[in-house]
Amino acid sequence: MRRQQYKDFDATELFCPRCRRSVPVRKRLLLVLSEGEKYDYTCVYCGTSVGDKLVKDNEGVKILLK
Ligand SMILES: [Zn+2]
Repeated sequence: MRRQQYKDFDATELFCPRCRRSVPVRKRLLLVLSEGEKYDYTCVYCGTSVGDKLVKDNEGVKILLK
């Protein structure tokens, strides 16, 4: 078995609690918010939502230094 890292939700496979294994997922635009776009990831087999992600495109990659 291969261990999966969840550092990035752009993975094409995520763990589905209903299928009890890593499954291919469908990315779907869920909401457009003032702070960014929220995407929902659903299992292609059972349709269970397995994760979501907030994409802030207008800012891109921003590093804040204190
Ligand atoms: Zn599933």
